[in-house]
Amino acid sequence: MAPAGKIDAHVHLSAWWPEVRRTGYRPDLDYTVDGLLAEMDRHGITHAVAIQIFQAPSLREALDEGRRWSEKSKGRLLPVATVDPTQGEDGVSAALERLEKEPRLVGLKIFPGYRPFYPHDARLGPLYEFAHRRGLPVLIHQGDTLDGLGLLKFARPLEVDEVAGRYRDVRFVLCHLGNPWIDEAAEVVYKNPNVFADTSGLLGSPRAPYFDRAFEQARERVESAVVASGRPDRFLCGSDWPLESLESAFTLVEGADLEPEHRALLLGGNAKTLFKLD
Ligand SMILES: [Zn+2]
Repeated sequence: MAPAGKIDAHVHLSAWWPEVRRTGYRPDLDYTVDGLLAEMDRHGITHAVAIQIFQAPSLREALDEGRRWSEKSKGRLLPVATVDPTQGEDGVSAALERLEKEPRLVGLKIFPGYRPFYPHDARLGPLYEFAHRRGLPVLIHQGDTLDGLGLLKFARPLEVDEVAGRYRDVRFVLCHLGNPWIDEAAEVVYKNPNVFADTSGLLGSPRAPYFDRAFEQARERVESAVVASGRPDRFLCGSDWPLESLESAFTLVEGADLEPEHRALLLGGNAKTLFKLD
């Protein structure tokens, strides 16, 4: 039987992701709430952090969708709202007015790299103040982008260092372990007590050449980030579903050469604390 209390710290489910058939890990994927819950059940995953995407036509519609998924899943899908500061300062303030009325949110997400801004962009100040006030972690897209249109310079872990120092009371999550800048991410986690990292999206499609070797390398790199930073209490297992199967994402961490109690933290313990699931 699967061990209890596994939490996926990074999934996406949205009607506005038209490319999912091409980018998902299997073409016949059941990309619905029921499909995701069934896959979670098969792998003993109790909750998943469901991150809204910046491609939604409006924040209002993205929040409505998140609320629907949360209700339909009876609270197992935990909504995270996405804010884009390139919509102007009014964009952030207007977003915050909406977010004030969303008690179910467990976090906020920004997508530097996909969108042209740094995490230390002054326009994000009010968002970080809001995150502090509400006690919400801020998830930051890091590293490689899916569509080739993004600019990687905005998505390096080093760019989070400054903002993590400036907002010590806000907890930040470096998504995708900063891939390919995993050493850099481990250093930013080590240096800043308020920075976490998730293991999502490191694997890509199982149909890609060298998948088995890529899997082993990704596992070694996760182990090395935990060992180098010495902070097993600040890493989170995530998949980036539907881009990666829950099975591969969790097998990667379950097989990691770490102390059993540290593996348990990665598989769910840390997410439970960070997203306040008690
Ligand atoms: Zn993602």
